[in-house]
Amino acid sequence: MVEATQFDVERLVHIDNLNKTFSQGNNHIPALKKLALTVDSGEFVAVMGASGSGKSTLLHILAGLLKPDNGSKVTIFGQNFTQLKEKAITAFRLENIGIIYQNYNLVRSLNVKENIRLPLLLLKNSQKREQKINALIEKLGLTHRTHHLPRQLSGGEQQRVAIGRALITEPKLILADEPTGNLDISAGVHICSILKSSKKEMGHTIIMVTHEPHIAFQADRIIMLAEGRIVSDVRKDQFEDSVELSVHYQKILQENVNTSRQGTVQ
Ligand code: ADP
Ligand code: MG
Repeated sequence: MVEATQFDVERLVHIDNLNKTFSQGNNHIPALKKLALTVDSGEFVAVMGASGSGKSTLLHILAGLLKPDNGSKVTIFGQNFTQLKEKAITAFRLENIGIIYQNYNLVRSLNVKENIRLPLLLLKNSQKREQKINALIEKLGLTHRTHHLPRQLSGGEQQRVAIGRALITEPKLILADEPTGNLDISAGVHICSILKSSKKEMGHTIIMVTHEPHIAFQADRIIMLAEGRIVSDVRKDQFEDSVELSVHYQKILQENVNTSRQGTVQ
């Protein structure tokens, strides 16, 4: 694997001219169009946008679960990793990326501790991390649930297990696709505060998709997608509170509904 340079460390994610088209027969759906994005190491970026705007596609490409169109350049930690062979992508993902889904994706037959330990079984030299499982479970507020199965847990608790499974490998990049989408407001805020404090402690970078302005407001930076393009890229500090961010988001959504209806989006 290529050694990361200082330049790469600062620009953890660098996307240049990213295109992704889904083709079924003669039907071609352009999900991402000439997308460019740089995310610095340690940034917490929220990704917003209407349903179908390409948010999950972007995350799946960053996770190496989807291949972009030819000519796209996606580097993470200096590695143009989407060009690698499948096996190398899997190894890269395991070492560097933690993924959190809306529906938790836990293994139903494994308890809390076993679910969190799962990725370590696939990693070499993971004994040191193995010793950190109990401390992580405590940090997630799940010590009293250590031996419980997913079906015995609330949605918020299941998502905390999923966060534990993402964090146990100490990845540089956390990708979360609407992690609070199935949760009530207080559980959602709790999930977000866990992500924020783990970022502070471990220094990883977070890219999180969300529809909810009060969740996006927890990030340092908010990008908004419409029809596969970035149409807004703002710092959280530009807004007094999440209500102001919500007003901006509604405006961006409205503008892009209008332009696409007029057929002026290129
Ligand atoms: P979002 O997460 O913002 O709701 P997606 O990234 O899931 O949007 O989808 C973006 C566009 O790509 C949508 O038009 C969607 O229908 C299309 N799309 C996503 N996945 C596939 C797929 N596997 N096959 C065909 N079209 C897809
Ligand atoms: Mg989605």
